Amino acid sequence: MNKDTLQSLLQFDKEHIWHPYSSMTNPQPMQLVESAAGVYIHLATGEKLIDGMASWWSVIHGYNHPELNQALVEQTEKMAHVMFGGLTHEPAIKLCQKLVELSPEGLTKVFLSDSGSVSVDVAMKMAIQYWQAKNKPSKHQFLSLRNGYHGDTLGSMSVCDPVTGMHHLFADVMMQQHFTESPSVKFSEVFDEACLEDLKAKLETLHESLAALIVEPIVQGAGGMKFYHPDYLKAARELCDQYDVLLITDEIATGFGRTGELFACQHAGIAPDIMTLGKTLTGGYITLAATLTTDEVADTISNGEAGCFMHGPTFMANPLACAVANKHIELLQSFDWQSKVKSIETQLKSELLEAASYSAVADVRILGAIGVIELHQSVDMPSITQSFIEQGVWLRPFGKLVYIMPPYSITETELSTLTSAMKTVVKAL
Ligand code: PMP
Repeated sequence: MNKDTLQSLLQFDKEHIWHPYSSMTNPQPMQLVESAAGVYIHLATGEKLIDGMASWWSVIHGYNHPELNQALVEQTEKMAHVMFGGLTHEPAIKLCQKLVELSPEGLTKVFLSDSGSVSVDVAMKMAIQYWQAKNKPSKHQFLSLRNGYHGDTLGSMSVCDPVTGMHHLFADVMMQQHFTESPSVKFSEVFDEACLEDLKAKLETLHESLAALIVEPIVQGAGGMKFYHPDYLKAARELCDQYDVLLITDEIATGFGRTGELFACQHAGIAPDIMTLGKTLTGGYITLAATLTTDEVADTISNGEAGCFMHGPTFMANPLACAVANKHIELLQSFDWQSKVKSIETQLKSELLEAASYSAVADVRILGAIGVIELHQSVDMPSITQSFIEQGVWLRPFGKLVYIMPPYSITETELSTLTSAMKTVVKAL
């Protein structure tokens, strides 16, 4: 691309286009991407960057994958979209069959929607309608973990951490929810039951107003990239049963193997009442999300006053998205993804843990195909991003966190380039 075209495109972008969490008066620098293939993002300025972010957890087989492309082309030639009210189609049916087959025990009913945040809203509405149908309308609030993150719509935002989720900005319209301490025992520490005290106390006092407890299983992502102990989740399941509160696990970031198990709740050997999926669901190709639930929840809602579940997006079960999701799952099942994630984990441990001794570093932690360096101070995003570009990698740190969750298709050499870049940049801070 010539320089003038590049400049004028970026100028329009700067003046007219919102980006995630962006300012229109003080926009951050933008990189213009021309194409992406495998684990590489190709910038219009000529640089080729190894993507450490998997486009925010979603690309696991790499960009521009011939089989995923082909699935889209074939589906486009049949139909790109058709409404889902009164009509159905094979791509959606096959996808839902697969999701039911792969999901934790008991999750048999699937609601497809447009994005992760919407799938969380759908999960919340399911829980609310469930208790209404059981004649317990007072059970309409949610208990959520501090440091949790579940999305940006008004519903999902209400169950995000009240501080980092900026609840005060929307205080007048925000649904009032309840929060419990985030699990204090880390993934590989010895479990200590004391970390359950606050959860127990909150359930004990609030259960009559609670529809559900909502958690990100094992990994609290946007709220701090923290990995917590599976026994916490196991106990949360038991406590929810004891207090008659539904359990929603948000697997939008963790689903499809990222933590080393297909779904993170499997580290604890539990199944939720409602589970949300997104991001990786289409291999990172197109937006699609799913909310799965049990016969018990679905039948109760369906036999309630409304006689149906009250949600129905225009682009529900978009055939293109379903077709590419089917191919992504087929690809995942065609190789030993678990060994690949394990080998990424082993390599991350051997290459990143030494960064724990750097003066700017507070902690280094690794789980599955996720590597996190936590710093003592927050980073200056534009300057650190530029340093990474100079190292040939794409990373998007936030706050005190410099982290990667690369596509599973990354090679050993490419992963070493990523970890070396992380160490070089962080060491110089
Ligand atoms: N839940 C979790 C755990 C997430 O990580 C995200 C995305 N960052 C969401 C929900 C929201 O998904 P989306 O951005 O697709 O709306």
